[in-house]
Amino acid sequence: MVVPASSLVTDPHEICDLLKLPYEQVAAVHARYPLRVSRYFLELACQYGAPLLKQIVPDILELQDTETPADPLNEENLSPTPCLIHKYPDRAVLLVSRECASYCRFCTRKRKVGTSEMSISPALLDEAIRYISNTPAIVDVLISGGDPLMLSDQQLEHILKRIRSIATVRIIRIGTRMPCMLPARITNALVNTLRKYHPLYINLHFNHPAELSPEACAACTTLADAGIPLGSQTVLLRGVNDSAAVLKELFYRLLAARVKPYYLFQADQSRGTSHFRTSINTGQELMQQLIGHVSGMAIPTYALDTPDGNGKIPLGPNYLHEVEEQCVFTTYTGNRGVYPNTLWPDTADKR
Ligand SMILES: *Cc1c(COP(=O)(O)O)cnc(C)c1O
Ligand code: SF4
Repeated sequence: MVVPASSLVTDPHEICDLLKLPYEQVAAVHARYPLRVSRYFLELACQYGAPLLKQIVPDILELQDTETPADPLNEENLSPTPCLIHKYPDRAVLLVSRECASYCRFCTRKRKVGTSEMSISPALLDEAIRYISNTPAIVDVLISGGDPLMLSDQQLEHILKRIRSIATVRIIRIGTRMPCMLPARITNALVNTLRKYHPLYINLHFNHPAELSPEACAACTTLADAGIPLGSQTVLLRGVNDSAAVLKELFYRLLAARVKPYYLFQADQSRGTSHFRTSINTGQELMQQLIGHVSGMAIPTYALDTPDGNGKIPLGPNYLHEVEEQCVFTTYTGNRGVYPNTLWPDTADKR
């Protein structure tokens, strides 16, 4: 493993001693869902407090949440081969690592990330890459996991090289939480490998402004300086970032770190994560407090990954009341307005 074991905390005793938590509860959760946090993030979280700690400290509520589906997005049935999720015709997710530097308690793939339920092997990766090359409709390959940057530079390059050699693949994306969880992983050697495979996009995962430490921002700079466009896929989490002031500060800090807020996800209905979920009304109200009030660059799409694998949809908020001969809307300041929705010169096909 490229990430040294000494930089990761996995022992429930250590966490419990540090945070004065009841060992039995933490150990019980750990027996069902893996515990791991990078020393770097643990230290940051201890300094900052609850919004960061909640993301990585096991909670007994995880075990009490038993009725929620384990695989709400139906990913297992959308996998033509174990390391690939093919949900949309033109893009596919390649799962290359089952490990992460820290295990987020709200992970949507909690059913398998960090456990033996997730099988990834060179033979399975070969099979998945063969599927991509035999499916020319796939033009966008998302490398995910787990965290792909848990692989060594060489392992990553071996995968990137083969995907890049498929003529029908137009763009490659990597999804990683490493700049947030273990910024030291973003080395010059890594970016010198990555930059050979442009057009390459990286979507990061930051949930709270306190995560944008000087180290995390430096990691983002290293990636951006290699010409890699950066996005953030933030998850809306109760008790972590469900406040307009927190989201505003997060999105502005991301922009300052040259990361474009891409998605704000409504939390998925994944077993063991339900205590993190907000209502959709909350998400819409939060977005309404941001849209128009902050830079448009700072506004991600608030989206729901719909159950059963039917794809992502934007959740609004909705500003339109009527789209007929006239279009009636409410502005971000709450004023009502009208846009004459007619064509000139008038055409028969109404386009
Ligand atoms: C989210 C997702 C994608 C990518 O969706 P975009 O809206 O293009 O970012 C692709 N495949 C799966 C299975 C996904 O969950
Ligand atoms: S980094 Fe991503 S894949 Fe890993 S535990 Fe967190 S949310 Fe899940």
